[in-house]
Amino acid sequence: MAAQVFFTNMRAKKGANLLDKLERLCRAAKMTDIISDKDLVALKIHFGERGNTAYIRPTFARRIVDMVKEKGGKPFLTDANTLYVGSRANAVDHLHTAIENGFAFAVVNAPLIIADGLNGKDYIKVPIEGKHFKEVNIGSAAVHADALIALTHFKGHEATGFGGTLKNIGMGLGSRSGKQQMHSDILPQVKSEKCIACGRCIAWCPAEAIYIDQHALIEQEKCIGCGECTVTCNERAIDINWKTEPNIIQEKIAEYTLGVLKNKQGKSFFVNFVTNVTPDCDCVSWSDAPIVGDIGILASKDPVAIDQASLDLVNKAKPLEGTRLDEGNGDSDKFKAIHNIDGTVQLAHAEQLGLGTREYELIEI
Ligand code: SF4
Ligand code: SF4
Repeated sequence: MAAQVFFTNMRAKKGANLLDKLERLCRAAKMTDIISDKDLVALKIHFGERGNTAYIRPTFARRIVDMVKEKGGKPFLTDANTLYVGSRANAVDHLHTAIENGFAFAVVNAPLIIADGLNGKDYIKVPIEGKHFKEVNIGSAAVHADALIALTHFKGHEATGFGGTLKNIGMGLGSRSGKQQMHSDILPQVKSEKCIACGRCIAWCPAEAIYIDQHALIEQEKCIGCGECTVTCNERAIDINWKTEPNIIQEKIAEYTLGVLKNKQGKSFFVNFVTNVTPDCDCVSWSDAPIVGDIGILASKDPVAIDQASLDLVNKAKPLEGTRLDEGNGDSDKFKAIHNIDGTVQLAHAEQLGLGTREYELIEI
């Protein structure tokens, strides 16, 4: 059966600004039906890397926060720490970046909680039946929340073609170790020329896989690929190998999404902002020109259908000149033209896992 995906375009006028239209959209899609009185409600959002400007405006999050509170829920904004060493690799840097990007309490009217804690070690192993994983490491705040609303900026992605709800939830709420599992099939390596033999990584390694012999060395047979050492090293001497096949990483993201949503049946809701459709993820510290004009906002209770609908809308839209698309090969899938990656693999695997359907009915309000 086709899933319902609600859609509102970007036209606005007096008495119907975009915040009002977002609220109307979410009411039409019955967002607050997932919330019971006193529920702790995680609003998963990407706060944007420092220097990025394409992430969702905090005022949109504020409108959702107010709707959740009106229903008696207790909302908090959340994301998990990054694997790469950028401006969001631990909770302190992450919160500083979020506030610099406008997600202050005074604006969003809710606390910010980093889902996997101060340094990415606060996660829960959730058992799943996947092709790649039998358990996934999910930030504990996401698991403990009673309900989840994902606010997703839909855009291109250098590793998965595009990033939508599945990417926002699966990769986004995976702990740092989870991100290592998704991003790489290859275990970390020490760059001996950068290592100062401080031993910090040894204390952090849960598998006792690191020892010092002039510089740090990793025993590959002991290493469990958790990724803790990569962000522990202040010298950036431990390399993450980002080489995972695009198809595999997409399937892994779908399996992590399965883990996040496992205890949220009937308690999750998804909103995609198909605006500022940049070629790359909001994890990069820049925002290249959007490849299509702003399309609209979508809302659904089906995480697969909403991404399929968003992708179809982008692919139907007129390409903008003077953007990265001009350098593409003219593929009808705009993200494939840019990244040479078929992003529909994540949709197919998610559907196979039972997360939702690619068949949808688009209801314009
Ligand atoms: S933390 Fe970094 S610099 Fe220190 S021993 Fe480990 S790899 Fe070397
Ligand atoms: S990836 Fe994890 S197990 Fe492997 S060396 Fe680093 S900290 Fe240890």
